[in-house]
Amino acid sequence: MSKKKSRAASPRTLRRAAGRVEQTLARDRERLFTLEAGGSPARAIDVPSASVVEAHALSVRCPLCEGPHEVLEHAAVTAVTGARLREVHLRCRQCGSRRSLFFRLLEPKPN
Ligand SMILES: [Zn+2]
Repeated sequence: MSKKKSRAASPRTLRRAAGRVEQTLARDRERLFTLEAGGSPARAIDVPSASVVEAHALSVRCPLCEGPHEVLEHAAVTAVTGARLREVHLRCRQCGSRRSLFFRLLEPKPN
């Protein structure tokens, strides 16, 4: 009878497993980000004017590495509800991951 080969995981296998865990964590963090304020059109952050949108967006850190973002694009979008939204496309300066933040412009109050 032949002896069974040891099933101890090689360093390469361990590294691959660790990589999978990292990927899963990253996915979870991105999903959590979309559940936070501004992470989706339904959770758009109320702002008084478009001028504060980018400053606010830049104050939000990357959910993956806590790095600072840069603004790639700042687009006016209209939600299905008719609300005027701003979608800010962000890219992490540190890890390069991309995401969007959503803001809702408050309607000017009639005097
Ligand atoms: Zn990052």
